[in-house]
Amino acid sequence: MFFTHDTEAALAFAAALTDTAPAASDSGDDELRTVAGLSDLLSRWGFSGRHDRDARELAEVREARDVLRGLWLLERDAAADAVNDLLAEAQALPRLVRHDDLDWHIHAVALDEPLATRILVEAAMAFVDVIRSDQMERLRICDADDCESLYVDLSKNGSRRFCTSRCGNRMAVRAYRARGED
Ligand SMILES: [Zn+2]
Ligand SMILES: [Zn+2]
Repeated sequence: MFFTHDTEAALAFAAALTDTAPAASDSGDDELRTVAGLSDLLSRWGFSGRHDRDARELAEVREARDVLRGLWLLERDAAADAVNDLLAEAQALPRLVRHDDLDWHIHAVALDEPLATRILVEAAMAFVDVIRSDQMERLRICDADDCESLYVDLSKNGSRRFCTSRCGNRMAVRAYRARGED
């Protein structure tokens, strides 16, 4: 295991959220256009706490999606500044909590804070781990020409280049064909 379980889970959720954008989603559509789409994402990832199911919340989460994509691609020092800003803005206060059937873990904002705030702060807390263990280069964007999907490279030697094996295979076929045309 590279990071703690909750850090890896928070990073995976952040990547999944950013991957609802058209340039990164499986369908090629914006998969976060409706409240239903948001509810579906939250339940698939077991993201707990307040969920207002209204247009305002949806707009805020869509904004958070852009913020997280930007954060993911920053250099380490710039990412540290951005994380500090996010935590300060949300007046984050880390505390150990136990809820649902989860044992003690960290939340830095209360479960009844707005969803977008909690999404940003959970991601920022995960980035704290990534930055202080000097692993920012593990946060990647897919190398495929036509895919902007984000992923965490948890491989031993850090050599993963594609978001999924599907993209890897697609690019391998393309490279093979390009060679054949020479
Ligand atoms: Zn929790
Ligand atoms: Zn990809």
